[in-house]
Formats: sequence, C-alpha cells, structure tokens
Amino acid sequence: MLKVCKFGGSSLANAEQIRKVCDIMLSDPSRRIMIVSAPGKRSREDIKVTDLLIALANARISGYEGALELKAVISRFADIATDLNLPVAIVQEIEANLLERVHDDTANTMRYLDSMKAAGEDNCARLVACYLQKIGRTASYVHPKEAGMLLTEEYGNAQILPEAYERLYELRHQPGISVFPGFFGYTQSGRIVTFSRGGSDITGSILAAATDAQVYENWTDVDSVYAVNPSIVSNPHPIYEITYNEMRELSYAGFSVLHEEALAPAYRKGIPVNIRNTNNPSARGTMIVKERLNFEGVVTGIAGAKGFCSLNMSKYLMNREVGFALKVLRILADEQIPFEHMPSGIDSLSIIMRKDIFTPDKEKIITNRLLEELNVETLSVNRNLSIVIIVGEAMARTVGVTARAANALSKAGVNLEIINQGSSEISVMFGVREEYCNYAVKELYKEFFQR
Ligand code: ASP
Repeated sequence: MLKVCKFGGSSLANAEQIRKVCDIMLSDPSRRIMIVSAPGKRSREDIKVTDLLIALANARISGYEGALELKAVISRFADIATDLNLPVAIVQEIEANLLERVHDDTANTMRYLDSMKAAGEDNCARLVACYLQKIGRTASYVHPKEAGMLLTEEYGNAQILPEAYERLYELRHQPGISVFPGFFGYTQSGRIVTFSRGGSDITGSILAAATDAQVYENWTDVDSVYAVNPSIVSNPHPIYEITYNEMRELSYAGFSVLHEEALAPAYRKGIPVNIRNTNNPSARGTMIVKERLNFEGVVTGIAGAKGFCSLNMSKYLMNREVGFALKVLRILADEQIPFEHMPSGIDSLSIIMRKDIFTPDKEKIITNRLLEELNVETLSVNRNLSIVIIVGEAMARTVGVTARAANALSKAGVNLEIINQGSSEISVMFGVREEYCNYAVKELYKEFFQR
C-alpha cells in the first residue's frame, strides 16, 4: 500500500511544523512519498520563502547584489535547522546551493527566476530528509532530475511530459521515506523549470498518479474544504466527500484549497485526493473522488469570483447565419483571448471573459471587427460582472434547483445579468454585478444550507 503526501508551505513554516509533518509521515507506514513546498508564512505579516527568493532574483536581474535578500533566505533555513538541532553541514550545503544559483547568468530572466524559485522547495526537501535521518529513520532526498520529473520548457508555467510517468514509477521501490521537492522539474535539455505558483500540489498529484498510489493526501491548514468561502459565511458546512468534477467547478470560481491544475493527473488515474489538516491530523478531511455515494443535500458548494466581463451582441436572424459563432470566436482567437462561457439566444450571443485579459485595447480592436466584418447590430460590453455558481452532482437529477436559486436571488434583490447551465448539469452559473457577488453567495448559502 502506498500513500503519497504533499505538505504545503504553512505545514513547513518552522521547526515545530516540520516535526508535525514528520510525525504524520511516520504514523502510517504506507506514507512513503512526501512532497514538500518551500517554508511558508509563520504569521500573517511574514513572507513566504518563495517570495523572498523572487525578490532576490529580481534584485540580481536589476543588477543589484541582493545581499539582504540572500541573507533573509539563508536565515529562514538556518533558523529551522538550528531549531531542529541539525548539523551545521546541512546549512552549509543549503547556502552553497543558493549561492550557485544566485551567481548563475541572469540574461535569460525567466530561466533565472525559475532556478531561484525552485531553491525553496529543493532546500526544504534536503532539510526534511536530513531531519528524518537524524531521528534515525530511513529517508532520502530525491533529486527531481534523477527521478525523471520531465517538464515542458515553459518557464513559470511548465506542464508534465508524458514520458515522465514511467520513470517516476520507480519511486515506488525506494526504501524508507522519499522526500521529493515540489513545484519544479527539468526540461529535456536539463534546465530547471517550475509550474505556476502553488504548483507543489501538481507535483504531488503527478507522483500519486505515476506511482499508482492508493490515495493522494494533500496536507494543508484547514480541516476540510467548506461548502462556501469561510471569509464570506462563518462556520460553513464542511464537505467530507466531493467529486473531481464538482471540485473542478468550485476551484474555477475561487475555491483555492488546491491548485487548479492539480486534480488532472489524479483524476485521470482515478486516485482519490484527501485534503487534510497538518495542525489537526485526526480530522478526516475532504475526500475528492470519482463518484460519490453520499449526498447530504442537492448542492455541494457555492462559489463566487469577481473580475469578469461580457461582450454582448445581437443580430436579426443570427441563428440562420451558418458559422456566425465560429467567426466571432475566430476574431477572439486572432487576438489571443480565451473565453469562459458563451450563453446565447436565437439572435443574441454573449461571450464571458476575464476582465484582465479582455483589456480596453483588445476591446476596441475586437468590437470594431465585429461591427465591420460580421455586421452585428447591437454591441455592448459589461465590465462589472462577477460569476456565482452553485455546484452539485445531485442537481442533474433534481428538478427545480435553478428556479430555487433564481428565486432566492430575486427575493434578495439581486439582478441576474446572465444564467448559464453546462450540459453536465452539475453547475449553474449566474452573472451578477461585482458589488453583489459576496451577497449573492451568502443568499444562496442560506437557501441551500440553512433552511
Ligand atoms: N512555493 C511555491 C509557491 O509559493 C509553490 C508551492 O508552495 O506550491 O508558489
């Protein structure tokens, strides 16, 4: 039996947390592969090691020595090592590792940044392995290059290469606990490259899939995933079981427990993901599974996200014009604009996009082309849009959920600009003005969880 466990930055922020993490690993012999993030914040005001490393890299790129920034990174690791009573040699090893990266060529800034960012996870893994060895356990630091963590050459946003899986499978046979640094891997040509921020979740999911793990445990600092953002509703309903698809929909609209790309590898292999709390290991956490057996209510979770906009157009007899939508999408593609939703009527079409991507400059180009090339008759842009979604597998077989939600929102005086339901019927999306986003989430929560 094999469990792959990933620990986030808050679970590794100091010596006390690292002891907890190691206790968790040692309390179950099937926990044999651990993935570590870089040490995170020790308090609200603290700075994550990854952010310190980015500041250091930027200083170097701008031609400064970065002495202060380097000192800050080294002292984070040195403090942990001292508090864990580790030999000085490990701090010297970490310092040498950092200096080598710092003095690398900065000409290719993206490449340099990735090498620096990866130092947080890499050295944290060395430190944790050293601690486990010191307390007499069989443990080893795993070098992602030697293990075969092969990624595409997309600095700051790498993707796994399919051939990596076969090589990573070998980790199954490693004796004792393997400590694998998260967040980065290597290109075919041997360069360090990172996933996007928060990417250690992705490393964990890849390793769980590659080694055919029984479960992927993702250890963080909350007891479970909640049905709604706890900063909007206090003491929200915990979710004990959720499907990959439900989780995917909710993380899209702002649930930030797991990295958005992290579910895919586990999902493809059908490996359950268990979100757990390092600070409360007895809590069962949330199980993310392929199919659910238990349904407490029709809605599993509610989420809201701001920062959207809609491009709305109409043209008489639009439905009869073959290829109209295709031409609209081609114009968007020419301008490199991805879209999120596309609700339509017989003679109207709206495209929902992220506001930061559909910039005012892009808006000008695209609206001109729509008017000139497609002769649309009315055209408007709404830049004040948030999306609120209700998600639940049980919705597909329950009549009237959308009506209940729409009714609750209308009673609360929230105007619905858009309603959209995907064909899977596991979610319904409402477009509301940004100032109503949190309020709408609260009202929907009342309707589905507090009645
Ligand atoms: N340390 C990286 C970050 O802060 C990756 C991670 O923690 O998953 O983004």
